[in-house]
Amino acid sequence: MANLTKDFFIGLSNNRVLNESAKKWGFRMGAEKFVAGTNMDSVADTVHELNRRGICCTLDHLGEFVTEKEEALEAKEECIHILEKIHADELDCHLSVKLTKLGLDIDESFCIENMKELLAVAEQYGIFINIDMEDYSHYQQTIDVLQLLRKDYENVGTVVQSYLFRTQNDLEGLKDVRLRLVKGAYKESPDVAYHDKKAIDENFLSIAKQRLLGDAFTSIATHDHFIISELKDFVKEHQIDKDTFEFQMLYGFRNDLQFALAEEGYNFCTYIPFGTDWFGYFMRRLAERPQNMNLVLKDTFYT
Ligand code: FAD
Repeated sequence: MANLTKDFFIGLSNNRVLNESAKKWGFRMGAEKFVAGTNMDSVADTVHELNRRGICCTLDHLGEFVTEKEEALEAKEECIHILEKIHADELDCHLSVKLTKLGLDIDESFCIENMKELLAVAEQYGIFINIDMEDYSHYQQTIDVLQLLRKDYENVGTVVQSYLFRTQNDLEGLKDVRLRLVKGAYKESPDVAYHDKKAIDENFLSIAKQRLLGDAFTSIATHDHFIISELKDFVKEHQIDKDTFEFQMLYGFRNDLQFALAEEGYNFCTYIPFGTDWFGYFMRRLAERPQNMNLVLKDTFYT
């Protein structure tokens, strides 16, 4: 049953017609609980408020299915605007981007040029850019583009997913790279990914511990309090410097836990998605946690 529900929402997230239509609807079904706003000016207030509570942020200007160069160029311009606003408002904030939104499916070298332009602006302002990891069909390309960009820029990193079998083997090649560790949000074949929650969780813990004992900065991105609790014990036991890692969660999820971790003195970063292209992101969140449907039903029938 759980797998059927997950497949249903992942299917919706990949539906181009619905994604396109939803841009015109405005936020529906309770999406505003997980998507912070439609434009950078309104989102800046949210970032200010979280910064005031000692929480850093990473901004994701949402977008799916970019197939025209013009759309990718618009996305790049929006990212430059975000970087300028972060700098001008002195926000404690960095940027998360998806390579497909910057043209990866159109032409890899065009996407690389867009990324280089963004990294040059970000470097000038001292801002880090993280490349989100998308589905497995983009995995190798994402790693290759990252390694190429790192020849010229240090302010770039990416994401590894503990549901992939190959992540353990890929860690060595990424040992100097700032990484975000997640479980993985897409529907992948059993040929490449664990489907068993226990195996995904065990792999997450094993990768997190290897990274915490290594030299590069790691963002531990999960809402799973069992994992967080075990890693907090691990950090204490091994006297790991708290400035070598942070916890990350998505905007709108487990706010109490987000504030508690920041108050306990851990570096904490909230991932804030915004923009009109909210549908695919929101459906992936429902796929992960069908309990979020309660919020949708409440919104649909009681408001
Ligand atoms: P889950 O396995 O969903 O939950 C584990 C347990 O935690 C649950 O059983 C429950 O006990 C508890 N729990 C979880 N959520 C809640 C809640 N809301 N309220 C109460 N209890 C809860 N995926 C990608 O593929 N690529 C990316 O680039 C990417 N970036 C991400 C960035 C961030 C900051 C985060 C947090 C996630 C990102 N993801 C990304 C999504 C990720 O891969 C997972 O799909 C998502 O985080 C769900 O897994 P989880 O680790 O939070 O825990």
